[in-house]
Formats: sequence, structure tokens, C-alpha cells
Amino acid sequence: MRRKVIAGNWKMNNDAEQSVQLINTLLQKLPQTHAEVVIAPSFVNLALAVEKTKNSPIIVAAQNMHFAEKGAFTGEVSASMLEAIGIKTTILGHSERREYFNETDESLAKKVDTALAHHFRIIFCIGEKLAERKAGKHFEVVKGQIEKALFHLPQQAWTSIILAYEPVWAIGTGETATPEQAQEIHAFIRKIVADKYGKTVADDLSILYGGSCNAKNAASLFANPDVDGGLIGGAALIVDDFITIIQAMK
Ligand code: PEP
Repeated sequence: MRRKVIAGNWKMNNDAEQSVQLINTLLQKLPQTHAEVVIAPSFVNLALAVEKTKNSPIIVAAQNMHFAEKGAFTGEVSASMLEAIGIKTTILGHSERREYFNETDESLAKKVDTALAHHFRIIFCIGEKLAERKAGKHFEVVKGQIEKALFHLPQQAWTSIILAYEPVWAIGTGETATPEQAQEIHAFIRKIVADKYGKTVADDLSILYGGSCNAKNAASLFANPDVDGGLIGGAALIVDDFITIIQAMK
């Protein structure tokens, strides 16, 4: 079933004390919503976030994980380590991971396989860079990212996938895709998934928008039929803004 999802990607922000503060305020102010609310703190604060949100509807996700089960991968975190502290959802393929940590569609395909083998849900990020958008290549870029990292999956795996369309030119820049731009490419994404896996899989797929989505523009983005929520960066760190964004998801 297609779900509405509002996910906050905290990136490399908030120490333990700040994380607890943000979670406590979020819990106090959390509105009634049919959307799933996800937060993705940094690795070191995940266990604490799981503890603080137990018995609440908030889902805690990792921002990343390694594809290997274990071994000599200094500085990395495995799926089993995340599982052991109660994490069952991870973001994968964020553009900052692709850009600064050389993640490729090929390495992401391996991460996807490992995450699914551990029965994780995946918020998988895709999106074009500014030059690609200007050159009119955004459809082609996004299609390639999906095909290379996800089209080897069997049909049933798609119940564990959430896509987040995040144009790189909109992430952290204050520049947002217009509602029309978001709808256009979300509908395109749904169509390519439908062409490969059928209409039911595509109709059930949640496709989130990310990229300077904030308290002011969330409602107009979410009003589109193919926008099923948001992956929120900066605005997820400001509790009242995050709450307004959750409320914008009708
Ligand atoms: C993100 O990091 O996924 C993101 C969308 O960031 P921001 O909302 O700050 O643009």
C-alpha cells in the first residue's frame, strides 16, 4: 500500500543532548497524522533515538550502511549492527554520499541487496545535478539511477522500497523544485517503475520529494498526486517547521 511519509534527515547535526531535546519536543508536539514520521539521526545517536521514541509512532532510520556483513571496513557500520539496536529502515544513495563518498549506482545496488537481505526498508535517493537539469537530461539521469541500482530486484522487494526524488540543485540551497516540476518527474518515475514491474507495484510505491522542502512550500509540493511526502534536511532540525511539514501532508 502506498504510504505518506515525512522523513527528517539530520545529516551530521545534533550531538546526543541536542538529539534528545529535539526528539522530546517532537514527541510533545507531534500532531495526529496518517503520515509515517521518520527521523534519521547520525549513527552514534541512533540507539538513543530508538530508546527515546519507543512506544511512539516515530520511526528511526539510519542515514547509510555498508554493503558488507562485517570485516575490515574501518569507519563503517553494518546492517546487523543497526538491526541489533532496533533499526529497520535506512536511507541509501543520498546525493551527499554519492558526491563526497564516491557512492555509485553499482555500490548502491550492493547496499540495497544487503539491506533487503536484512529485511530493512530503504529510502532510496535519486536526483539530477543542476547541469543535468539545464541540459534537459534529468529524466534520463533519474531513470539510469533507478535502473542501475534497483531494477535487478524481484517484484516483491519493491514493498520495502521508498524512493526520494531529490534534485541535487535543490538540496540545502533554498531553491526548491516547483510543484509542477516535482509532479512531472514523480509521475515519470512512477511510469518507469510501472513499465518494468507493473501498475500495482508502481501505484503502491511511495515517492518522496526532497530539496529545500520547508514549512512554507511543503503543502503545495504534497498536494501533487504523485508526491507522497518529503525527505527533509534543514527544516527537520527546527521542530516547529518539521511539525508544520507533517501537518502539510493531508
Ligand atoms: C536532504 O538532505 O535530503 C535534503 C532534502 O536537504 P534540505 O531539505 O536541507 O535541502
